[in-house]
Amino acid sequence: MKIGILALQGAFIEHKHSLDALGVESFEIRQKKDIEKPFDGLIIPGGESTVIGKLLHKLDLYEPIKNMIENGMPVFGTCAGLIVLAKNIEGEQAHIGTMDITVRRNAYGKQIDSFSEEVVIPEVSDKPFPLVFIRAPWIDCVGDNVKILCKLNGHTVAARENNMLVTSFHPELTKNLDFHKYFINMIKQKKSRYTDHVSGFSYAVSSYILIFSSGTIAGSHFSNSLPLPGNKPVDGYIPDKLPVLSFQHRYVRSLHTAKSYHHLWRKRFLSLHYQEVLNILLHVPFQ
Ligand code: GLN
Repeated sequence: MKIGILALQGAFIEHKHSLDALGVESFEIRQKKDIEKPFDGLIIPGGESTVIGKLLHKLDLYEPIKNMIENGMPVFGTCAGLIVLAKNIEGEQAHIGTMDITVRRNAYGKQIDSFSEEVVIPEVSDKPFPLVFIRAPWIDCVGDNVKILCKLNGHTVAARENNMLVTSFHPELTKNLDFHKYFINMIKQKKSRYTDHVSGFSYAVSSYILIFSSGTIAGSHFSNSLPLPGNKPVDGYIPDKLPVLSFQHRYVRSLHTAKSYHHLWRKRFLSLHYQEVLNILLHVPFQ
């Protein structure tokens, strides 16, 4: 497992220390080329959300990161990272805006710049977790699919929506690794689900690397060792919803071929929503 930590500004190194302590490999994301290799999860650290937001655009990281998250990349945003992920920021423009929450920046900051508190967050652990707040936001409202993980004095300070986990506080500034463990479990669950769904697929396309960009597959390498059950496309094996029209013909054909390779997993593969298929293409390291 490999986790990318957005390292444009703020408390990224502290996240690395937490992951190191758990024996999880991580790397810093500072520019576009850093996210070209496959990885399994993303951390957006605390810092200053306006600065992180601006740098994401300046460094051309905004689109690819937003796409990854929308396509299911597990992401953990702490404090400014939470703000960067929020769909709505009171009185301000959203940044990545993938998570259905409305946040208030510096909600705690005006009264008291930083404080810490211990609470039990049952979803994460049955032991008290130290909450460290530094000019922290809170979440004012959440969408239907958002699960509130922790409230403090009536305000939501930790939440999850599918592949997105956010905290107003800074688990990486404490010695307690439970939140990072929770995030790692989110990644593992996702991975095992995909691995299960696509075990045949990933075998058949072991060296088949797809680069999906704005609706087209821009490049690929088609393995010579791929078992070819005839070179004909098999009708109906790609769900209608897949944006295949813009794929180059031979890649469509190789997808057909790969998908028709193994009857057992084929059915399961076809039951996936196309977004999930794209996730597989984007995030499962084929090796
Ligand atoms: N106040 C910062 C912001 O609005 C967040 C502070 C933090 O990440 N500790 O972006």
